[in-house]
Amino acid sequence: MSVRVRVAPSPTGFLHVGTAQSALYNWLFARHQGGKFFVRFEDTDKERSKKEFEEEMTQTLKWLKLDWDEEITVVSNNLPRHQEMLSKLLSEDKAFYCHHTKEELEAERKEQEEKKLPPRHVCGFKNNERGKEAGGIVRLKVDETSDRIIAFDDAIRGKVEFKQSLLGDFAIGRAADDPLYHFAVVVDDVDMKITHILRGEDHISNTPKHILIYEALGFSLPVFAHLPLLLGIDRSKLSKRHGDTAVANYMNDYLPEAIVNFLGCLGYTFSKEIISKEEMVQEFELAKVHKSGAIFDVQKLNWINSQWIKKLSPQEFKQKAGLPQIPDIVVPLITERLEKFSDAKEFSYLWQQPEYDPSLLKWKKGELSDAKSALEKVLESFKDISWDKETLKAKLDEIAGGDRGMVYWPLRAALSGKEKSPDPVELSLVLGKEEVIKRIDIAVKKLS
Ligand SMILES: [Zn+2]
Repeated sequence: MSVRVRVAPSPTGFLHVGTAQSALYNWLFARHQGGKFFVRFEDTDKERSKKEFEEEMTQTLKWLKLDWDEEITVVSNNLPRHQEMLSKLLSEDKAFYCHHTKEELEAERKEQEEKKLPPRHVCGFKNNERGKEAGGIVRLKVDETSDRIIAFDDAIRGKVEFKQSLLGDFAIGRAADDPLYHFAVVVDDVDMKITHILRGEDHISNTPKHILIYEALGFSLPVFAHLPLLLGIDRSKLSKRHGDTAVANYMNDYLPEAIVNFLGCLGYTFSKEIISKEEMVQEFELAKVHKSGAIFDVQKLNWINSQWIKKLSPQEFKQKAGLPQIPDIVVPLITERLEKFSDAKEFSYLWQQPEYDPSLLKWKKGELSDAKSALEKVLESFKDISWDKETLKAKLDEIAGGDRGMVYWPLRAALSGKEKSPDPVELSLVLGKEEVIKRIDIAVKKLS
């Protein structure tokens, strides 16, 4: 049996990081198994589904380089088939029309809530003639007196069980020509010959309903596997109040390789922390996906991104950071320290004269006058010196005597204009003699 999997987002917003993770795990599983991976838009919610979100999700999945095997499909294109399947269930007496009004259903729901009963609608129309009269919501007939336990072997979580009697006669269509999500998703998965359904844990309670729909339609069941939820730092379900949840908001600051690496490791322990998606494919096994939720920790993402940034060539870095004008020689100084592309501008002193307040030049154990005298000595000795690491270091140590901070601090500040930066010898080598002398001169003048 050849593996066929899909990710099936509703195009009602930007691609969520949880959906991106589902897409990645489906992709990894398909590629590891030599199977197929599809993307399908579940646009059954006509009011909230938008073409622009389909396009955004498509672009973002492409940016993540999760390639799919067939053109992206849209559920509404399959509407005649959904209607045919709804009619089939109605004609076979496996589904019926519920003529209860919205108000009646709402009152029932409220009453159940007050009595702390599980919400379900056992419909009086299912076994009488009016249930056959067209109009109203289409519901699946579910025997509420049955003591059946609906069980399935989740490929990640093991055996999962639900009581059939708690489900009620759940809705499968707003009308006979208007299928609901849970119905459309089953028909589409059958039509696309999906073999494994890997999706978020939030869908686990829908699975018994889906199983009953498969059975009513006479189709064999796929394998179900529910991925752990992404959690915020406080261990509650990841939401906007924890920060950005749309992949789009990470695209400027992070590399796609870093996002994929980060999402892959949330829910799976690979053999190493910095791993490409191709390497993940080699290792990926469904049964090894974690059962419990994983914390979406941006600090961790930043660290992973910093490791991927280090791998970039100067050319790639300059292009991604939007800094085509900077000299190649400064790139390693930045990439050694950078977590997010937007922070690259913090390193502008590497290619332009920094702006700073003269007080920055003062070493904590000295006065401004000490800084001035140290910089004057450096300026004098640098004018005629061999420009290599050992010579520069030896000269600075000689001027400093026993207290390196007295020289290293003001020099570093004069070169970078920052509280924190690479050490002054490293900076001097990158900036070059002429530029260094110019900057020390400016610093001395600030102190005069
Ligand atoms: Zn009803």
